[in-house]
This record gives sequence, C-alpha cells and structure tokens, in this order.
Amino acid sequence: MATDTLDPAAPNPRTWLYPTPRGLYCAPGDFYIDPAVAVPRALITHGHGDHARPGHRSALATSETLAIMRLRFQGMPDTQQQALKYGESIRIGDVEASLVPAGHILGSAQAVLEHKGQRIVVSGDFKRRPDPTCPPFEPVPCDVFITEATFALPVFHHPSDAGEIGKLLRSLQTFPERTHLVGVYALGKCQRVIRLLRAAGYDKRIWLHGGLASLCTLYRQHGIDLGDIALVSDAVIETFKGAIVLCPPSAIADRWSRRFFDPVPAMASGWMSVRARARQRGAELPLVISDHADWSELKQTLADVGAPKVWVTHGREEALVHYARSIGIEAEALHLAGREEEDDS
Ligand SMILES: [Zn+2]
Ligand SMILES: [Zn+2]
Repeated sequence: MATDTLDPAAPNPRTWLYPTPRGLYCAPGDFYIDPAVAVPRALITHGHGDHARPGHRSALATSETLAIMRLRFQGMPDTQQQALKYGESIRIGDVEASLVPAGHILGSAQAVLEHKGQRIVVSGDFKRRPDPTCPPFEPVPCDVFITEATFALPVFHHPSDAGEIGKLLRSLQTFPERTHLVGVYALGKCQRVIRLLRAAGYDKRIWLHGGLASLCTLYRQHGIDLGDIALVSDAVIETFKGAIVLCPPSAIADRWSRRFFDPVPAMASGWMSVRARARQRGAELPLVISDHADWSELKQTLADVGAPKVWVTHGREEALVHYARSIGIEAEALHLAGREEEDDS
C-alpha cells in the first residue's frame, strides 16, 4: 500500500527492482520485466515487439499475451509458459506478483510487484480511454509507479476516437468512389479501428492486407467480434471502389497499393497529430487514434496511483519527470535498453 512508504523499515525500492543491460530486473524474484534479450525468467506486460521477445526459458504473462507470442514466435516450443489471469497473484521467490489491465491492447497488463510491504507497479504501455478490444486500465495505489512516456508533452492531446472515425466515414461519403486505404499497426490498432468502425454503424465488409490476417483471427478467437472482414487477396471481382481497406503502414507506399482506385491514403496513429509525421507517412487523411496515454492521461494517472516515487521509461522522459517533481513526486528517468520508439502508437 502507498502508506507503507511511511514505514522506516521499508527497503529502498531501487535495491530490489532496477534497470540492467538485459532489462528491468526484479532481484528477490530473479526475473526480468519485458527484457530486451532472451533471459531465464521473464514477465511480459504485452505482445508488442519491444516488450515481448523470443527465446526466454520461461515466460509469465496473460494467456492472451502468450497466445500473441506463440503466433509471432513459431509456437515458442522452448519457452515454458505460465499464464496469469488479471487479478490473480503468484509468489516468485520473495515477491508477490500479479497482473492488472493496462487498457493498451488485447492481453496487456501492468505488473504489480510486492516485496517487504512495498508495492511497485510497472505500467508497461497503457492508455486511459475506453478500448473495445481490452479491459480498461486499473489504477493501483503504489509506492513506486513505473510509467511509459511515449506522448509525455503538453502538446499531445488525443482527440476522441469516435470523432476520428467520423472523419474517415465523412471522407467516404465525400469520395464514394475512392478506396480508403488505412495504415494500421497489425497488433491492436487494426482490431481497434475495426471495432470503432462497427461501433459507428459501419457494417459493410472491411478488407485486409494479408499481413493483418493472423492477428485478426487471434482476436476473434478471444471473443472480439470484428464483423465482416475479408482479405484483399481473396477478392475475385471486387473493384474496392468506396471500400475501406486496412493495411500495415508500410504497404501504403508499396506496389501493393497500386491496385486500388484513386486511393485516399489514411493512417491511424497517435503520431498523426504531428503534421510532419503524417506527411512522411503519405497520409492524406491522418487519424489521431492512439493506444498510449496522452499528456492529460499521464497526469491523471500519476494522481490516481498516488505514488510518492515515479520512474519514467521510454518516450519523452524529461517533461514527465519535470512535471512530477513540480507536484512533489520524487521522479527520475530509467533509461531502459531496447525500447525503440514504437510504430504501434
Ligand atoms: Zn505497446
Ligand atoms: Zn512500448
């Protein structure tokens, strides 16, 4: 509990959880969280590539995250896999560990670690707004909160996703002949955009690039209804006029996209609020749909978890550290290895 920090016998949290070249290491449990390389024991917060890597001897994660990892890593036959349900806890060495929803993608979790009356929460990637493909982020009061900082600048304010989907549907009305080609990251963004389209009443077939197929199947197997979807490559006499086609962002500029009629290139990402990024992606229709917390969500989260100490991982660490200090939180950047800027944002 947060009150435990008043306990003078509580250890310095940096003595039992700290960054190493292999990743964030929990010493009393002898495991790594989202390690950058293969390790004997890993706890994985979610399936994105800079968090979930192949080759661990054992991996602890939600069953959804393990399913995503098996799909991406040829079944992971050499990794001993242990699934933990949200809210269930497990003893690892001298640590009590549990997973709590992070609201980022299917299966995404925060790691809640307790040792000697002290609680550290590793958020992984998270967002606060509703996502029809996963349960919402649950704030857990803690002594130390370890947070990402992908969009940790006051300029980042993500608009409502319903409004962004409305832009896509209005464009479709304005240009009823043109193919609307939407770049989406394969894991999470793709399925969320489909669900958002369905929620907005779009019930026509949504076409997919082949690179998005297997993860859509996996989401469906986990109970996420995506409605009528089909592969572009399976189409027989389809002209794609006025259709919505989803593809990986790189496919927009690819030969592959030449088959479509006068396409409207669109892209769904938190980065689309940055005009230069939208131009760089060739997105005529930028849709600001993010799976990460924006500036106000980050501030809200620091208030909700009430941690006296905050450690900041990948992204714009300086601004968040500065803000946290300004409201009396002891904050520092962790400088973790292996966290590139994500395309999944
Ligand atoms: Zn992620
Ligand atoms: Zn990440």
